[in-house]
Amino acid sequence: MEPSTLRNAAPPERRGLFFGYVTVTSLLGGLIVVTQVPAVPHASTVAPVAFWLMALPALLVDARPFSTPGRRDASVVFPSICFTFAILLRWGLGPAIMVQTAAVIIVGLRMHYALWRAAFNAAQYALSFGAAYAVLTLVDPTPLGPGSSGPALGHVAVILAAAATWFVVNHLLVYTAVWLRFGGSWWGAIRSAFGHEVLTTGSLLLLGPILTVAALESAALIPFIFVPLYAVERMARLSTEQERTALLDPLTGLANRKALLTEVSDQITVHAERASDGQATPRLALLLLDLDRFKHVNDALGHGVGDQLLVEIGDRLRRAAPPGGFVARLGGDEFAILAPGLPDAAAGQGLAMGVIETLSEPVLLDGLPVDVGGSIGVAVYPEHGADFAALMRHADVAMYDAKHRGDAVAVYVPESDHNSPERLGLLADLRRALETPGCDEIALYYQPQIELHTGEVVGVEALLRWRHPVRGMVNPEDLIRVAEHTAVMRLITRRVIDDVVAQVAKWATDGILVRAALNVSVRDLHTGEIVEQLAARLGESGLPPDRLQLEITEGALMADPRRVLATIARVSALGVAISLDDFGTGYSSLQHLRRLPLTEVKVDRSFVLGMAADTDDAAIVRSTIELAGALGLRVVAEGVEDERTWRMLVAAGCDTAQGWFFARPMPGDEFVAWLARYRVPRLDRPAA
Ligand code: C2E
Ligand code: MG
Ligand code: MG
Repeated sequence: MEPSTLRNAAPPERRGLFFGYVTVTSLLGGLIVVTQVPAVPHASTVAPVAFWLMALPALLVDARPFSTPGRRDASVVFPSICFTFAILLRWGLGPAIMVQTAAVIIVGLRMHYALWRAAFNAAQYALSFGAAYAVLTLVDPTPLGPGSSGPALGHVAVILAAAATWFVVNHLLVYTAVWLRFGGSWWGAIRSAFGHEVLTTGSLLLLGPILTVAALESAALIPFIFVPLYAVERMARLSTEQERTALLDPLTGLANRKALLTEVSDQITVHAERASDGQATPRLALLLLDLDRFKHVNDALGHGVGDQLLVEIGDRLRRAAPPGGFVARLGGDEFAILAPGLPDAAAGQGLAMGVIETLSEPVLLDGLPVDVGGSIGVAVYPEHGADFAALMRHADVAMYDAKHRGDAVAVYVPESDHNSPERLGLLADLRRALETPGCDEIALYYQPQIELHTGEVVGVEALLRWRHPVRGMVNPEDLIRVAEHTAVMRLITRRVIDDVVAQVAKWATDGILVRAALNVSVRDLHTGEIVEQLAARLGESGLPPDRLQLEITEGALMADPRRVLATIARVSALGVAISLDDFGTGYSSLQHLRRLPLTEVKVDRSFVLGMAADTDDAAIVRSTIELAGALGLRVVAEGVEDERTWRMLVAAGCDTAQGWFFARPMPGDEFVAWLARYRVPRLDRPAA
């Protein structure tokens, strides 16, 4: 995942510190090399066969280094250390360092290491061997030397201590370099691959004395070492592989959520460092993509085809990602792109538009061209969050925003965040109010609807009211906005349906026959639950279904038209009428009027409120009335506050009106009293 060039590249951050460290380490290691290697005259002459049987494999086996797990393969384990540690135990420091340095040079040439990197590697080994040798000299500098007939018990302890010293010095040297190179905490870097290194490097080092003892017996035993060496190599490879697949999505081969988390955290560290260096702060954009019609593809064409689609989308996203970008699949039909180094937040939006563009081309599935659009939410570091969790949450809020508005792309804005602490507090209070039996904070108010040409009260709209114990009356629109994206919305709608059906049934037994309209939100229409509930309540109360009406908004239709349409069709089949609320705001599409099983259109109150003073508003209201009339729909004007508006609506041929001119929303029992007092307004009276 990390570009391999990074292994050779000079680090952009902490350049001075990193290279200072590399230089000092290289000089110290170099010092050991130049003092020890020339003092190796006789090594190869003392035991030519055994020595060469260890030295030659040392030079060859590094062709297959063991990589350590983790994304930064700053450290690989070279199997040559098994042979060179054996050489140390038998022939001392000089020969060990000489062979190890030669092995490093060969690897460096083969893998095109930068000079500084090869020098550092050679030095790192020279210092590790130097330290191990210092421990050995406490007892015997060459405990398994040519004169020795095998290790005494004391020797074994010292050999173990030397191996441990070698390991610790080497690990500290390498992972301090990793830390200086990539940042984060020093201790975190030291700990990162510790377990894996103990297993691999530790096994290699401890094979050293076994190799030496075998060589003491007979040089012919030396090749046997390749069997355990192969086993260690397999083990290291498997555990690295395992670590790697834990970070991959098996279907698309993209990174998974866990890998994205690490990448975001790393990139945030890099971006924060650049900012603290006084450089212009680059932006890091997190794009969250959710496909629009994936569920339909899965349902209609089967999961195999659904998988094909996800793989294709994964490929397109890879191609659409900017250089240095990182693509992940988070599960289901959710993907993420991380784009580092952007000049500003707008660039994140531009990038998202580009991604949408690449998705606009239909995908060929089973020979069928399938259109799969998507919505992308964008959150940008540092504006929209300082860590992975905040960025993810905010990108999610933005994505939902985009879906809700019917846009392809939305950048996070705090106003649409439903999860601020204040809102979460409000939500908890609301849930409590809804779930506590006998709690009277929540109530339904009813606003009369008047048929204009007779002046009769034909219906009511049920409107939710919540008197919060501390905040007082909560604006219903705010309340719905907070609850809409959560499970609390279901509780609200249940409550509304229960209360309204009970109220209308009660009025009916008192001889008051009115129709009640109730408002439902987007979420209610996504699941069919509402249909079952309506059917159950109607059945229990014996109320005819035409006594109820659902008000839906066009916003609800935009979110997921297919599912919403299915629910609406089922409601309509029950015999409950559907009214299109707030008509004329936002996303009006004449298609809705044609495609939906509507009975009624409600002209939004913003136009009605303005129609007496504003000729444009008046024209909009008039043409809506005409259009609805032509389609055979009833028109309701809401927000009638004065007599002049009422008269204009009568003149325009509007069917029904609702507004403060007639009555404000009121509790159910007040409505009965109001109805008793109600007098039909008289048109023949001159207008005020
Ligand atoms: P809406 O469905 O468009 O409801 C009409 C709104 O217009 C109500 O606001 C009503 O009080 C107000 N209104 C009626 N006549 C007049 C008038 O003459 N002048 C003015 N200025 N306003 C008038 P309210 O009760 O604040 O509700 C606001 C919105 O909250 C509703 O808009 C509806 O979208 C939502 N809402 C209310 N109750 C519920 C509910 O039970 N469930 C759901 N899902 N949404 C609800
Ligand atoms: Mg309404
Ligand atoms: Mg309305």
